[in-house]
Amino acid sequence: MTEPMTEPMTQAQRRHQVVVIGSGFGGLFGAKALKRSDVDVTMIAKTTHHLFQPLLYQVATGILSEGEIAPPTREVLARQKNTRVLLGEVTDIDLATQTVTSHVLGRETVTPYDSLIVAAGSSQSYFGNDQFAEFAPGMKSIDDALELRGRIFGAFELAELGAMRGEDVDALLTFVVIGAGPTGVEMAGQIAELSRRTLDRDFRAINSREARVVLVDAAGQVLPPFGAELGVKTKRALEKLGVEVKLGAMVTNVDENGLEVKLKDGSFERIEAVTKMWAAGVQANGLTRTLSEQTGAPLDRAGRIGVNSDLTLPGHPEVFVVGDMIDLDHLPGVAQVAIQGAKYAAKAIDRRLEGKPPQQPFKYFDKGSLATISRFRAVALIGRFRLTGVIAWLLWLGVHILYLTGFKNRVTAVLHWAVSFVGRGRQERTATEQQIFGRLALDRLDHGAADLVSPPSAEQVAAQEKRRAELEAIAVEEARLTDSGARGVPAD
Ligand SMILES: Cc1cc2nc3c(=O)[nH]c(=O)nc-3n(C[C@H](O)[C@H](O)[C@H](O)COP(=O)(O)OP(=O)(O)OC[C@H]3O[C@@H](n4cnc5c(N)ncnc54)[C@H](O)[C@@H]3O)c2cc1C
Repeated sequence: MTEPMTEPMTQAQRRHQVVVIGSGFGGLFGAKALKRSDVDVTMIAKTTHHLFQPLLYQVATGILSEGEIAPPTREVLARQKNTRVLLGEVTDIDLATQTVTSHVLGRETVTPYDSLIVAAGSSQSYFGNDQFAEFAPGMKSIDDALELRGRIFGAFELAELGAMRGEDVDALLTFVVIGAGPTGVEMAGQIAELSRRTLDRDFRAINSREARVVLVDAAGQVLPPFGAELGVKTKRALEKLGVEVKLGAMVTNVDENGLEVKLKDGSFERIEAVTKMWAAGVQANGLTRTLSEQTGAPLDRAGRIGVNSDLTLPGHPEVFVVGDMIDLDHLPGVAQVAIQGAKYAAKAIDRRLEGKPPQQPFKYFDKGSLATISRFRAVALIGRFRLTGVIAWLLWLGVHILYLTGFKNRVTAVLHWAVSFVGRGRQERTATEQQIFGRLALDRLDHGAADLVSPPSAEQVAAQEKRRAELEAIAVEEARLTDSGARGVPAD
């Protein structure tokens, strides 16, 4: 059923409509930056939460709960009266009619816009080997983190049962993390700490301290963006924790019971491991393809779209793309690029509506990079400064407390960190069968979860089509008014 997007109002009453796609770093900070603007904001996102991705690995390893890193977007924006939040996966953006089409469980919604901020992020890239995903889930969403949590804690449970029967449980007690960037390093470090500190008194038939944790990467260095010196220090720190670091090892196959890697000398090695995790690459959201087709803007190998220096699309000054989706000046895929880009886009919209001249081209301010290795140990690269150990970890702690969304979340996260880092416990070890197998079960349905609910009736489909035609007519008229300079952002 199509939801009416705008209450009936006359053309004169209608404010400038800004649609924001995504509720991640770009989406949330872009919407918030428009709080005091004379516009109506509609945020459309495929999840109901704002996700703090940098702490997903702590949900996967039982330190934090999912709610602590993913507060409801609706609640975060509840006091922002000019903003509404809509659940929906955007499937199409029509730049000619200025409409965004989204779907939830087979129900379609069409939303017209005057200005658009696209911040739909990126997904895991398996470099053309998407079949690896079945046995080596990535880490991009709450679902991924909970699945991994289930797989990690579940592997220890199955190992205990197997050991009681006298079986070989080495593959169950081997955990392989693919990709030695910040996420891979953090994940490998946490699995090592989990097995050596948290679980060491919990089992009777197995010794969790003997779990094998392997970090694999095709590159010759750990944490390439942090430089060689910090890479070497991080590798040493991981090895001290008990992590086996295999560099120059390219994954060539992944199956239920293990994986195969090709080493630098051309030989192949098989690692028997039931639990694998993929943290090796990213691919920009597929919406860049439709934007590229409609504007001729180029896509790079990771699917990122080339944007103008003011983050707009060629020929479309009303459309901004920010964050992980853009290819501009080799900017990295980090939260600050999305946050600063979204604030810049919001300011550009404001300035145009106020008739002010455009801003200078977008310039990213690099505030530095951080990665944790284990409790009280991290690495930081801030400008020319390189920090390691406890000081870097304290910096990591401060930055994460500052950027976690919501006061309640900060308080409970700090309590959970105290439990895990000062003590040895982990508060969030709950794992269920559905967490582990839900993704694979949904993948087997033709249309995912939509197959599990009744489809829209013929009347609903007809109403949907009628509403779409009405909205397109409104959008065409708005585009005409905008182009003629009567409203919003002039085309030139
Ligand atoms: C595990 C992990 C650890 C990380 N660690 C760090 C770190 O330590 N420091 C750092 O700076 N960066 C880190 N990053 C990168 C950082 O999280 C991203 O660069 C940042 O989130 C990008 O912001 P974004 O707004 O472009 O996309 P996201 O924050 O990914 O937001 C995308 C939004 O779009 C929504 N969406 C996607 N497709 C659709 C659609 N079709 N329709 C509607 N909505 C859609 C998503 O649900 C989401 O709300 C990490 C990323 C990951 C995955």
